[in-house]
Amino acid sequence: MKLDNMFKKTKYSTLRRSEYRTETVRPEVPEGLLRKCNKCGAAIIAEDVKKDAYICPKCGGYFRMHAYRRIEFVADEGTFEEWDRGLETKNPLEYKGYIEKLEGLKEKTGLDEAVITGKVKIDGTETVIGVCDGRFLMASMGEVVGEKVARAVERATKERLPVILFACSGGARMQEGITSLMQMAKTSAALKRHSDAGLLYISVLTDPTTGGVTASFAMLGDIILAEPKALIGFAGPRVIEQTIGQKLPKGFQRSEFLLDHGFLDGIVERSELKATLANILKLHKDSGCDTERMQTLSRNDVEHGAADEEVPSAENLSAWDRVMLSRMQDRPVGSDYIERLFTDFIEFHGDRFFKDDHAVIGGVARFAGVPVTVIAQAKGTNTKENIERNFGMPSPEGYRKALRLMKQAEKFHRPIICFVDTPGAFCGLEAEERGQGEAIAKSIYEMSALKVPVLSVIIGEGGSGGALAMATADEVWMLENSVYSILSPEGFASILWKDSSKAKEAAEVMRLTAKDLCKLGIVEKVFEEPQDFSAENFEQVIRPLREEIARFLSEYGRMSEQELTEYRYMRFRNM
Ligand SMILES: [Zn+2]
Repeated sequence: MKLDNMFKKTKYSTLRRSEYRTETVRPEVPEGLLRKCNKCGAAIIAEDVKKDAYICPKCGGYFRMHAYRRIEFVADEGTFEEWDRGLETKNPLEYKGYIEKLEGLKEKTGLDEAVITGKVKIDGTETVIGVCDGRFLMASMGEVVGEKVARAVERATKERLPVILFACSGGARMQEGITSLMQMAKTSAALKRHSDAGLLYISVLTDPTTGGVTASFAMLGDIILAEPKALIGFAGPRVIEQTIGQKLPKGFQRSEFLLDHGFLDGIVERSELKATLANILKLHKDSGCDTERMQTLSRNDVEHGAADEEVPSAENLSAWDRVMLSRMQDRPVGSDYIERLFTDFIEFHGDRFFKDDHAVIGGVARFAGVPVTVIAQAKGTNTKENIERNFGMPSPEGYRKALRLMKQAEKFHRPIICFVDTPGAFCGLEAEERGQGEAIAKSIYEMSALKVPVLSVIIGEGGSGGALAMATADEVWMLENSVYSILSPEGFASILWKDSSKAKEAAEVMRLTAKDLCKLGIVEKVFEEPQDFSAENFEQVIRPLREEIARFLSEYGRMSEQELTEYRYMRFRNM
């Protein structure tokens, strides 16, 4: 029998239209044989959907997951220990019929309220977990939800555990009035203390996350992840349309929209969720940094590739030759360094204000096993990618993303390694509107006092303040044919000599080459480059870099926070 025919004969064909008509009203997968996907309309076998993590086998659309299923799905088997079951609301408005409604829902769903909390292990790492369940009054946040979340976070703080909260909520619970509103403050305050204790909070947003939950615990994660295409917003689309009388763009308030606007660290497919959470938890274990391992790193800890035949580097290049080489198309770019020097890299996106700037790539990775924060100014490897990455010219949101990740590194005691490669910060109307100068200034200001080791490596162009904003470091290294200058030779010639065609002469007087800058004490180390430096002979640069990074981490990892900040202060104070 064809599925469609079967479908007609099941009770699902009698579902009320409203139950599957809109995207935001989704029925749960029933226990029966068939159901209809509310995204593509296909008839699908309920068992298949369950087996496949509640994903439509036809269109890949995500169904909501019951809270206990969600926990089964991410936790190691048999590790869930539930906390605080059975709390009762005081029904603050004495709202008629409310208690009866709750009793009915408890019976129907087997839940005691709209959130389940407790402790689990994920791939062996212990964590506190909370999961909202949309079947219970659209997981709106009443007093009991707020109380359970706050208690779970407080206990995590006491036991020094990370917290993972899966949000899915219509927002505040109207039946509890202003008491419901206060749960936003209660949960946020508990998370602030958890964060101040140096602990990790991962927020996972699922469809839909709206209203008072978005405006409190959902948006406060150190790391904020979302499932694909989830509706996430403060005011729902219908409310906005009715209020301002404007039609909203397609994809408005979906996960992809939020990622682009800088509010998510990443979108994770359900099939990748457990592995992603496990990886993040491991990278943050023991406050994120394996201090002992870092302090004892040596050259022997970094793998040695088979020694290639060394190609002697060019000695007699002019400064202008080096400017040209620093801009070469086939020169390895930031992402190449991340790939070759580190393992377990997870990219985190967004400045949490406006945008995710593709001219800056940042995230957490391991260097010889030690968790580090890595941030690179990113040129593309072809024209298309270069356009997407704005030719390596960061916008204010790029510097704000970098700074956000650096502050996070500081919170988790991770060293920071930056790769600099930019013609300069992006000049443009939009960049000025959003405060390019402020973004660079703030970055320099905050970097100068970060309480963790900071290393910057200039791998291509070190263009002016746009470069310094990621190079206010303990040590700054340069590749032999990279350059670092107050502005481009073209700009220099045009300002001082009113003639940009004199760029070549300008390059010679600007002292922008690695060797000049080393002599001036602006940089500590210069790495030789092979002739025709490219992906082909990349290892010749990577090998000594690896050894020196191991040396850097070991040396600076032994310094106290005070010694580090004092050292960095004096490094620039003496210039
Ligand atoms: Zn479907």
